[in-house]
Amino acid sequence: AKAAGRGVVEVFDDELRAELNARAELETALRHGLEAGELVLYYQPVLDLGTGRTRSVEALVRWVRPGHGLVPPDAFIPVAEASSLVCDLGRWALAEATAQLVRWDAEGGHRGGLAVAVNISGRHLAQAHLLEDVTDALAASGIDPSRLTVEITETVLVDEPLALEHLRSLRELGVRVAIDDFGTGYTSIGQLSRLPVDVLKIDRSFVSSPEAGHADLVRLLISAAHSFSLGVVAEGVEEDGQLSALLAASCDAAQGYLFARPVPAADLPPAELPGAAV
Ligand code: C2E
Ligand code: CA
Ligand code: CA
Ligand code: CA
Repeated sequence: AKAAGRGVVEVFDDELRAELNARAELETALRHGLEAGELVLYYQPVLDLGTGRTRSVEALVRWVRPGHGLVPPDAFIPVAEASSLVCDLGRWALAEATAQLVRWDAEGGHRGGLAVAVNISGRHLAQAHLLEDVTDALAASGIDPSRLTVEITETVLVDEPLALEHLRSLRELGVRVAIDDFGTGYTSIGQLSRLPVDVLKIDRSFVSSPEAGHADLVRLLISAAHSFSLGVVAEGVEEDGQLSALLAASCDAAQGYLFARPVPAADLPPAELPGAAV
């Protein structure tokens, strides 16, 4: 390649090498950051549309990386998912989120008695130690298992028999299971009746889309989920009109900037439905 000068292949090679180095550095920094306590959980209220009150929150990880500020999960979860690091992160998140419920219980007020949903990667769900990570978090915190929901994306259910088995075991423990980002993968409504899940979270792209057909699809998803005795949470609710449509469709719960953004534990607001909607 030298004799031919810097050809396209060689430049591509350099870029690929730089990209791989960057990922390796990020992974090392993240591993260190997790051990050094640089990761924090933010919490976003999930509103019960029946009562208008917050009954649970979703835990969303942030990395307070020195010299980089607050790093959002999309910037590091994909790198963590390439190795067992995402399992270490999941174990930490389960322990931290359940411990937070106990701290909020002790504080009382609007933060007492909440439930929490933790995002778990498909890679972690398929690991043999997943169940132990959950039971450890439950034992250390002493919370009732029904106050913990594990959120997984539907793609993990397709080809991982162990993942399905773990979901069944989690539900036997009394832990709740939610399918995240529903509608973006390949799970059909018909399959829902056979999956070991309690809650379906409708992806933001369907909730916020101005396309007329999407409102019908959301209504259909909600009634299908209900016919299989699943609860439905709508994600990414930003506008009053979206909330009205969800209320009209008997959606069970909703989450989004209209009510509250994800915030640190100490800042969790007493989120309620806007007065006009009730
Ligand atoms: P997700 O589980 O689908 O989480 C919902 C995302 O939507 C969050 O982004 C949340 O801040 C954002 N969101 C909530 N309401 C609204 C809204 O009204 N409008 C808009 N535009 N966005 C809204 P975030 O916190 O950046 O998290 C991104 C993704 O990173 C999550 O998507 C989840 O897949 C992943 N993630 C977050 N925390 C964890 C974690 O602890 N473990 C794992 N494995 N993944 C995580
Ligand atoms: Ca989620
Ligand atoms: Ca989601
Ligand atoms: Ca998402």
